Amino acid sequence: RPDDPIIELRGVHAAHGDIEALHGVDLVVPAGAVVALLGPNGAGKTTTMKVISGLMPVTSGSLRLSGRDVTGITATETARLGVCSIPEGRGIFANLTVRENLWVAAGERVSLDAMEQVAYARFPRLGERRDQLAGSLSGGEQQMLALSRALGTNPAVLLLDELSMGLAPMVVTEMYEVVKGLAAEGVSILLAEQFARIVLPLADLAVLMVSGRAVRAGSPTEIEEELSTAYLGG
Ligand code: ATP
Repeated sequence: RPDDPIIELRGVHAAHGDIEALHGVDLVVPAGAVVALLGPNGAGKTTTMKVISGLMPVTSGSLRLSGRDVTGITATETARLGVCSIPEGRGIFANLTVRENLWVAAGERVSLDAMEQVAYARFPRLGERRDQLAGSLSGGEQQMLALSRALGTNPAVLLLDELSMGLAPMVVTEMYEVVKGLAAEGVSILLAEQFARIVLPLADLAVLMVSGRAVRAGSPTEIEEELSTAYLGG
């Protein structure tokens, strides 16, 4: 159905080995929305992202994508469904050049030419550095490369984990301008961030995670009000 959320988690439990990290997470990302996933260190934001991208199995509960029950799906299959994630630390290959990184991301789905066109049109700085090793790019340039790798494959859903990590405030602003543009193009976006102030202005909805649970969901304004209490109550 057209109004099915693009992502829907119901009562999701997930564990790292013997240690359960998610204790029944409910989370809804409406199609076309930007949702901020907030919470302190260790709240389970990254684990939630991994469940959605099929990198971690659900031990109980369900995952639906566009209304379809896909609990137990693999990362390859979620990618095929248009779910694309930029992990914390960006997931680029330091010992490969910019072009080689784009080539790996292109895989069999897209041509390298198409990937490069999208990337360099959006980030001319990457074009100038196409033969530079990714590991020697600045933090901001690495994030541009990570975003380019995702964008070239035309994702329906983008999962962005701590996009702002290690970046200068101006670069963070630049990155979030790109995110705004993508949202305007209709890409659904889930943004995990520890620092609410950075992402709340961009978000249509916000979800607050504490200790492996989504404790609150609401408008950015509502969640902003909740935040101090949640953090202080830790
Ligand atoms: P951060 O902002 O620090 O990344 P987070 O909200 O993303 O925090 P997660 O990384 O999802 O939190 O971690 C949730 C819980 O799972 C934490 O208690 C963490 O210690 C644990 N955990 C995460 N990854 C692993 C792992 N690979 N092995 C064991 N435990 C893990």
